[in-house]
Amino acid sequence: MGVRITFATAEFAPLVSVGGLAAASAGLVSALRANGVDVDVMIPDYGPDVFSAAAHDWVEIGDAIEVDVPQWAGPASIRRVDHRVAGLVHLVATPGLVRSHPYLQPDGDGWRDNSERFLRFSRAVAAWANAHRPDIVHLNDWHTAAAAAATDPDLAVVLSLHNAAFHGATTGEWCTQIGPRGNHYEWWGGTNPLTGGIALADAVVAVSPTHADEIRRPDGGFGLDELLRARGAAVSGIINGIDIEVWNPADDARIAAGFTADDLSGKDICRADVLTELGWPDDAMLAVAVSRLTPQKGLDLIVDIAHLLGDIGIRLVILGAGGRSEEQALCAAAEQHPHHLAVRIGYNETLAHRLFAAGDLLVMPSRFEPCGLAQLQAMRYGTVPVATAVGGLVDTVVDLDAHPRTGTGIVAASASAVDLVSALHRATRRLGDRRRLANVQRRIMRRDVSWAEPAQQYIEMYQRIAR
Ligand code: ADP
Repeated sequence: MGVRITFATAEFAPLVSVGGLAAASAGLVSALRANGVDVDVMIPDYGPDVFSAAAHDWVEIGDAIEVDVPQWAGPASIRRVDHRVAGLVHLVATPGLVRSHPYLQPDGDGWRDNSERFLRFSRAVAAWANAHRPDIVHLNDWHTAAAAAATDPDLAVVLSLHNAAFHGATTGEWCTQIGPRGNHYEWWGGTNPLTGGIALADAVVAVSPTHADEIRRPDGGFGLDELLRARGAAVSGIINGIDIEVWNPADDARIAAGFTADDLSGKDICRADVLTELGWPDDAMLAVAVSRLTPQKGLDLIVDIAHLLGDIGIRLVILGAGGRSEEQALCAAAEQHPHHLAVRIGYNETLAHRLFAAGDLLVMPSRFEPCGLAQLQAMRYGTVPVATAVGGLVDTVVDLDAHPRTGTGIVAASASAVDLVSALHRATRRLGDRRRLANVQRRIMRRDVSWAEPAQQYIEMYQRIAR
């Protein structure tokens, strides 16, 4: 059956990427289109600052289309662009969206009116869907979850939860404005886009099966567990994939040499390339981390254990950006331990590819992880994850000590300094021998981390709930 989808998201790679939401949205849409699904992608028109690079790679199609929305949400209009990589995308213009960054002021705080900016965007998405009658309205995270308030009840709605820690809540009076079903968004006297979206969606999808369980428990639900439990079988988890053409060690112009599971010699060249750049000798395991630097990701633990890395037999290079204090603490630790810890601050895709290609190990001590993409990218490049037992990491990283023949990494019991040190010790014990390491590298490189299987699961779900 040909399914028609309206897919609304605040980020879509490579047009606008802040976090994993951009890659997940673009990866799923591209896999759906490859399966013949007709997808209208709707993203906010953030204007020339945000789209300065992307605009070189798109052509506008036709004139802007006016969208009929209530006065508080408008005027609303849509431009359609055909992007060289992303394909056809609808840029939705509603008041307040055009800024220098999708969410953040120059000082790093969120824009004060973020909730309202995305409530207007969401209202325009609902108007578009009501006019175009897709089989499915697929919403992503709080930014678009309020669209369900104004979507005709006879249209099926899917809500994907990429990060349920963010709700986008605002003041209570919005409930009466955002749509005929706005009362579902009342939350402790305020308006919470996510809670209403969860209540109204026909299907709520977490980005991994384990995280779907976690968010239904009081200690993992970010306050939403009761509401999610009430939705029963409507809540499920589907793991994300990665774009295996962008992430392809056999053919990646960003890395020093290509390699495959059958011939890992190129990986040695990539490893030597990075070691040389860092001025490090080849006498320890090379661990890498590529991550936002926020409490969620647990890399602050490295500050506590940096003095132990030498004894463990690991040199670690971290690429990341995030909170000022996290960045400063890690840089200070690297200055104190320059032979075993290096930190590169910034968002740098080329360096990310080079580090995934060079690493023996990936360090990913997340405190929570809805899915996690870095461990999938690392595995595709033969870099063995050392990761905590949370969320999507549970579904993708199988401990090598517990399962020597099928394991894909080393699992740390929790995001604590003690458990991380113990996991790193186990990693060097089990994988310090380069022949044993190569066996595991070949195994993890052969795993299917593409969108093929997840996209099939989404299509089955669409078919189940389409009316
Ligand atoms: P999250 O979405 O919580 O940030 P994920 O692991 O799901 O975490 O996805 C993060 C994505 O961003 C991955 O593709 C990772 O490679 C990439 N990434 C994170 N930090 C950086 C950085 N500093 N430079 C380049 N890429 C990064």
